[in-house]
Parts: sequence; structure tokens; C-alpha cells
Amino acid sequence: HVTKSFPGKDGNPLEILHDTSLAINHGERIAIVGPSGSGKSTLLSLLGALDMPTSGMLAYDDQNVTDMGEKRRSILRAQHIGFVFQQFHLIATVSALENVMTGLQYTTLPRNARREQAIQALEQVGLGERILHKPSQLSGGEQQRVAIARALAKKPDIIFADEPTGALDTDTGHAIIELLMGAADQGASLVIVTHDPNIAARFPRRLHIQDGVVTELDEGGSHA
Ligand code: ATP
Ligand code: MG
Repeated sequence: HVTKSFPGKDGNPLEILHDTSLAINHGERIAIVGPSGSGKSTLLSLLGALDMPTSGMLAYDDQNVTDMGEKRRSILRAQHIGFVFQQFHLIATVSALENVMTGLQYTTLPRNARREQAIQALEQVGLGERILHKPSQLSGGEQQRVAIARALAKKPDIIFADEPTGALDTDTGHAIIELLMGAADQGASLVIVTHDPNIAARFPRRLHIQDGVVTELDEGGSHA
């Protein structure tokens, strides 16, 4: 029963997400679709424990996330949740390797082990030869691979990707989706926001959001 409001133009709260209840099961693959401004990113941020609802409760397994302070929530994210954004959100001044290692900074692993795990993740996304490149020395698709490696390095139980192909051409985007699907093949749940109907069609479960209401779509893309 989650709601989310932001301050509107007149300063009064504007409810972006009405009373929303949904469960994501282990290993599930979900695409979230809906018009621009409908609240897709807002919903993903709540699901990924990056933001907190205005009212209602979020749980991760048997843990009540809405009761946690920011510190415990960041540990939960560090241990279980990978996040990939449309604009990559890499640190411009440091190497691909250092970027991926930031995804492991809240783990208890010693620096050597973090470095090894980060290198492995970069190899997994096909960037083993470019680990010391800075973001500006990489193409958009390569930068998104670094962002995916950062998410995968922690071996997350669930990956959230907010329009991960939105800034990329079709072929590059396709390769990025393959990487995310590959991570899901290894057991991670995958929740992606996309405007691309061809990408959405590849996901067994699709959620549509409009006017603050989330509905499930059936196989043909109609509202179930
Ligand atoms: P797009 O497809 O363009 O990415 P979206 O479906 O992801 O859109 P959101 O980014 O979730 O939409 O935004 C939903 C609504 O909430 C928008 O009207 C937006 O202006 C508003 N909103 C989002 N974040 C904030 C914020 N931090 N403060 C105020 N309003 C916000
Ligand atoms: Mg968005």
C-alpha cells in the first residue's frame, strides 16, 4: 500500500503513485512501461530502496525496509541490490575499475578481493581490456557496461535498470539487454524500465503505470 508524493507547483503535495501493492518474486523478470512522467523512475527508486514512500510499507524478504535508517538501507543495497541508470552515473575522474569498486565499498571484503571481484565483473561485460580507461575514454555502450559491471560485481539478488538502453543506439542497446538477461539467467531478479516495446515483450511479466496506478499487462499487452 505504497504512495509517493512530491511537492507540486503550488507547494502542495502531488501524489505521483497512488495506493500501490506489488510483490517481486525471486528470479522474476519484470518490465515497467508507461508514458513519460507517469512515475516509472519513482517506482523503481522505491523498489530499489533508493527512496522512501510517503506512506505504506516496503519489505525485502522478511525485513521491513521502511523501518530502516539510511545506513541500514545502504547496507541492504550494497549486499543485495544492483542499480543501472539511463545516463550511466559513472564517476568521471576515475577508471572503469575504480568505478566498479565503488559498488563494493560497503562490503567487508579487503581491497585486494574487491579489486579481483571488480576485474571479474568487467571481464564478464567484455571490458577486461579497458579496466583502466576513464569514462570519457569509453563509448556510451562501454560506459553502460561499466555501470552494469558495477551492479554485477556485488553479485546482487536483484537488478533494477532504469531505461538502460535509452541513451544508446538500437544494436548497442540490444547487447546491453543481453548482458542483463545473462545476469538474470544466473539467478538474479531483473526489473527494467523501458520505452521500447520490443524489449518489454521479452519480459514474462509487464507492469504498466499511468495516472499513478500500476496494472499488470497480459501476454498480448492488454490490461489484465
Ligand atoms: P520518464 O519516462 O520521462 O523518465 P517517469 O515515468 O520515469 O518519466 P518520474 O521521473 O518517476 O517519471 O516522475 C514522475 C513525476 O514525479 C513527474 O511529474 C516528476 O516531475 C515528478 N517528480 C519526480 N521526482 C521528483 C522530485 N524529486 N521532486 C519533485 N517532483 C518529482
Ligand atoms: Mg524515468
